[in-house]
Amino acid sequence: MEIKEVFKPKAIEEAIKLLDHYQEASKIIAGGTDLIISIREGKEPAPVIIDVSSIGEIKEINEIDEWIEIGAGTTFTNITEAAILQGRYQGLIDAAASVGSPQIRNAATIGGNICNASPAADFIPPLLALDSLLIIQSTDQIREVKLEDFLRDKGKVALSSNEILTKVKFKKLNKGQGLGFNKLGLRKALAISRICTAVYLEVSEDSKCNEMRIANGSLGRYGLREKAVEDYFKGRALTDDTIRIGGGLLKDEVNSRLQGRSSAEFKREAVDGVFTVALTKAIENCSHRKGDLI
Ligand SMILES: Cc1cc2nc3c(=O)[nH]c(=O)nc-3n(C[C@H](O)[C@H](O)[C@H](O)COP(=O)(O)OP(=O)(O)OC[C@H]3O[C@@H](n4cnc5c(N)ncnc54)[C@H](O)[C@@H]3O)c2cc1C
Repeated sequence: MEIKEVFKPKAIEEAIKLLDHYQEASKIIAGGTDLIISIREGKEPAPVIIDVSSIGEIKEINEIDEWIEIGAGTTFTNITEAAILQGRYQGLIDAAASVGSPQIRNAATIGGNICNASPAADFIPPLLALDSLLIIQSTDQIREVKLEDFLRDKGKVALSSNEILTKVKFKKLNKGQGLGFNKLGLRKALAISRICTAVYLEVSEDSKCNEMRIANGSLGRYGLREKAVEDYFKGRALTDDTIRIGGGLLKDEVNSRLQGRSSAEFKREAVDGVFTVALTKAIENCSHRKGDLI
């Protein structure tokens, strides 16, 4: 189906009025790095395009009370340059820096990455590990939904045709808390991730794990939390032994999930190493200083 009209609203209010009017006939475009390909392949009938790339309100990164809020229109380049995210949130910066090429990172947005809901979306695991909430707006309401509940299946999210994702928010990280990310890609510059893992960690003063949240990409139909492995670590000291046992549990989980897939053997072997590096980075990012747990 041909594109018949393109709108370029400058404010959220304007965009949601257009969405309300055109409903299923319309499609939001942000960076276009996923959507243009789908339109070209005839997978996305979109006679009306609503280009949200000129809406300044959805490009901000702010600290508000105990929250960090990131606009859906923030590009991966913006993330890599955000001073606010350096240190404890380094996992977000590493995930953004691992996306595509410089040209892709200049255009591609975090909102597009989330709403496209590819199993290989690199920014979804770190946001899942941060237990992020999404802010979604329509003419009727502004609602908040957990990212975990928003992802429904491969390429499917809980978003109506009259809604726009405006921002993502998560709790600020404090002393003893940090986020790590690691990715095993196919090719260096334009890798769509084969496996990526994000680990949020909260350690106590005596170096025990108070809480761990692990999220993987490309190991299921969409980005997933690994709750059985998270439970294992709770209250345990982070030693070579516990990390080895936790990595083994993750291998078992992935193995049972990917049964029958041709990539299962490779992924089952690789997942443990990818996780261990992500966890080591989370430990470093908890402290801001290498080799010091808090
Ligand atoms: C060469 C190449 C390399 C790539 N490498 C990677 C990689 O390494 N890692 C990775 O994760 N991805 C990669 N991608 C995929 C892509 O760049 C990302 O998924 C990107 O984040 C999509 O963002 P976008 O702004 O371009 O989305 P768009 O293409 O504009 O939109 C994608 C989808 O999200 C919807 N959408 C966008 N914004 C909103 C919003 N605010 N509210 C509601 N719906 C919205 C659109 O309607 C559409 O359905 C690559 C793509 C290419 C072409």
